Amino acid sequence: MRQPLRRGVPRLSARSGLQESATTAIGERVREMQRQGIDVVALTLGEPDFDTPDHVKEAAMAAIRAGKTKYVSAPGIPELRAAISRREQAVNHIPCEARHVLVTPSKLACFLGLQSCVEPGDEVLLPDPGWVSYDPMVRWAGGTPVAVPLERGTDFRMRPEAVAERITPKTRCIVLNSPSNPTGGVNTPSDVRGIVELAVDHDLWILSDEIYQGIRYEGEHVSPASLPGGWERTWTVGGLSKSFAMTGWRIGWLVAPDNAVDAAIRLQSHTITHPTSFVQDAAVAAVTGSQESVRQMRDEFRARRDLFVPALRELPGVSCPLPGGAFYAFPSFDPGIWGEDDVALCQRILQEARVAGTPGSAFGSQGRGHIRFSYAASRERLTEAIRRLQGLAQALPAQRA
Ligand code: PMP
Repeated sequence: MRQPLRRGVPRLSARSGLQESATTAIGERVREMQRQGIDVVALTLGEPDFDTPDHVKEAAMAAIRAGKTKYVSAPGIPELRAAISRREQAVNHIPCEARHVLVTPSKLACFLGLQSCVEPGDEVLLPDPGWVSYDPMVRWAGGTPVAVPLERGTDFRMRPEAVAERITPKTRCIVLNSPSNPTGGVNTPSDVRGIVELAVDHDLWILSDEIYQGIRYEGEHVSPASLPGGWERTWTVGGLSKSFAMTGWRIGWLVAPDNAVDAAIRLQSHTITHPTSFVQDAAVAAVTGSQESVRQMRDEFRARRDLFVPALRELPGVSCPLPGGAFYAFPSFDPGIWGEDDVALCQRILQEARVAGTPGSAFGSQGRGHIRFSYAASRERLTEAIRRLQGLAQALPAQRA
């Protein structure tokens, strides 16, 4: 029987009602001001200000010239899967083979991993403050995000005690991100060991987002998948966006045990099919070639951190742990001096000091009263940002009193 007519505007799915990413929204405002010719020191972006290394660009151009512009296999080209598995074995001691590697943009790697292991009603433990996209990804899978507070007093480490307190019969997965966006915090080997033991005891998945691994200044990086009981329950996410200054290339990877990676490969094969063919050849050059440019960029980020963070701490009512990795500082601002609301404070800093940061509350309730500043900017621009913030601080009523 034919359906009665129902004319109107077709409705969107409930799932589509995700919030726009706060980090993208503030970036738009900054670009708008810059279009108007206003000199803003933009410390909002989560991307290196360096250029992609030449040998990587050359590899992409050679691949295009060689006609590598057609479909390749859904999980990625064999040379790249093999190169990534060798790297994960050598650097992170993850007992993987090439077949355990799915070549995919890192953001999609997080998405595919979570969609493959979270059922409606499941709880997923997320770092708070944490990267803005985990929460919507969990919701997209029908799961419930559960915040694990990361305390400033522990330099924003994810402590096993805080994780244990939040495990319930519904918990399915724990998300780790070290070094962290937005805090730059790094988990210690004993944090990671403790969290893997909890995951083993409660039969949980771990999603370990290690995209900032190449930009770590202190301590030792331990991948959960390298620890006893860790491999069979961990999705490890890596990528080239941050450490190789390749954000626009959209290339990274997901490493997981057989049944898990196969599920993610199926999902990728029905969505993007695979990341751009010739970008994968460039990624082989990045993963197997000289790592000198990664070291140079990391050393420059460290020098900027050492310039920027102590200067932030000199501002009245501002405190900031020294970030152990990534390129973010996550200072807190005394509400008695700077006001309660970090969104209003960011707007004020943007309007009056022409310095752009991202409100900490965008990263979870524990981020309130903080601002995320990305120090992926030249030393001159960072010095200028500090000068402008000092000017604003002097104009604050509490300072005049
Ligand atoms: N994880 C974290 C913690 C990130 O900060 C980002 C990028 N902002 C991603 C994943 C996604 O990386 P990509 O842009 O390479 O997909």
